[in-house]
Amino acid sequence: MFESLQKKLSGVFKNLSGKGKLTEKNIKDAVREVKLALLEADVHYKVVKEFVEKVKEEALGEKVLESLTPDQEFIRIVRDSLIEIMGGNKNNKINISKNPAFIMLTGLQGSGKTTTAAKLANKYKKKGRNPLLVAADTYRPAAIDQLIQLGQDIGVPVFSGDKKDAVKITEDSKKYAQRNLHDIVIIDTAGRLHIDEIMMKELEEIKNILEPEEILMVVDAMVGQDAVNSAKEFNDKLDLTGFIITKLDGDSRGGVIISIQYITNKPVKLVGVGEKIDDLEEFYPERYVGRILGMGDVLSFIEKVEKEVDKEKAEEDAERFLEGKFDLEDFLDQIRQIKSLGSLSGLIEMLPNVPKDQVDIIKGEEELKKYEAIINSMTPKERKNPKILSYSRKQRIAKGSGTTIQDINRLLKNYDQLKKTMKQMKKLKGRKLMRNFPF
Ligand code: GDP
Repeated sequence: MFESLQKKLSGVFKNLSGKGKLTEKNIKDAVREVKLALLEADVHYKVVKEFVEKVKEEALGEKVLESLTPDQEFIRIVRDSLIEIMGGNKNNKINISKNPAFIMLTGLQGSGKTTTAAKLANKYKKKGRNPLLVAADTYRPAAIDQLIQLGQDIGVPVFSGDKKDAVKITEDSKKYAQRNLHDIVIIDTAGRLHIDEIMMKELEEIKNILEPEEILMVVDAMVGQDAVNSAKEFNDKLDLTGFIITKLDGDSRGGVIISIQYITNKPVKLVGVGEKIDDLEEFYPERYVGRILGMGDVLSFIEKVEKEVDKEKAEEDAERFLEGKFDLEDFLDQIRQIKSLGSLSGLIEMLPNVPKDQVDIIKGEEELKKYEAIINSMTPKERKNPKILSYSRKQRIAKGSGTTIQDINRLLKNYDQLKKTMKQMKKLKGRKLMRNFPF
């Protein structure tokens, strides 16, 4: 994500660092380079202009020039200016105060509207709500069937009426939702490849019928500048309440997410970060700026760990492990916890100061998979007491797990190493360190 921009910016910061004091020329040069990097990342020229003015004004002040760590001060200014342009430090939540609350999704074809409708419904269902999906994308041939299928997968009903007339479907869905006590109604409207009059008219009509609390436009981050332009047009016609930016997991250059809020004056409310149903996240500008500047996304990481890891169990485990009670069953448990957090590469991307290209992630993931298979092939007795693993037992396990004796020996070595580390931690009164830490 945003790799090229990230590289360019860190190059600019590196050039500034170690210079001791900075001159006005140093700063002007750096600002120019940041400007070029943003333009290359497809950030809207108006946004770049505003950004450059903000940074120049602050960075040329005495505070930076006289500072003992001018490079740090400069990075801070770049960071704060980006955050401000992207909407500040707040997270904008979806409004669902009415009952039923209507959320109308709009956007061009292929932006991820249908997928996002299902992701959103799934999110509310998980929270104990009773959502209804409405298939009103009568333009893209497969959209209605796609939504019906997605609805089935997540156990959310899909209203599709006569499947022909979007306005009629919408009208009927309103009554249907009220009759069936749905408290949140998500409408997947028709998208076209380009904006056209008929589509906009239809959307306006649907808006008038529903008076939705939210009219969100789903925007594909990979499209770049054009996406921001169509966002502006949609907003001018429909007075949107916000955006959902999709495909941020791809190699988008960053232009859309940086520009859209400033150009439309409407917030980004959610972001799509993958094709799976759970790949929808809240949006915090601060965290994305952290990623863009290569500072990692520690907050998202912590949130993910907190959400996925059973805290009580982690504490109990920590206590037990420090007492030296740590067998291969526990080791397997820990591997599963790490896997439940998602891919290692995703996790590592969130962490700052980890030299991404030096970590052999693929090897790490394969190794974990192997370890899991090996332990799965062991008997409970062997897991409790790996010391009994004779050569013939190892041969049996290797065969059962599709691994080699060397793989098993490596696992045992790692396990011993971990056990030793735990003992040392206990000596170093490391209880606090271990708590909530899955490995
Ligand atoms: P629609 O025409 O706007 O309804 O688009 P769809 O919902 O059919 O999505 C188009 C394609 O984008 C599908 O292949 C989706 O799986 C994919 N997609 C949607 N959101 C995301 C996302 O956040 N990340 C990725 N990688 N793909 C997405």
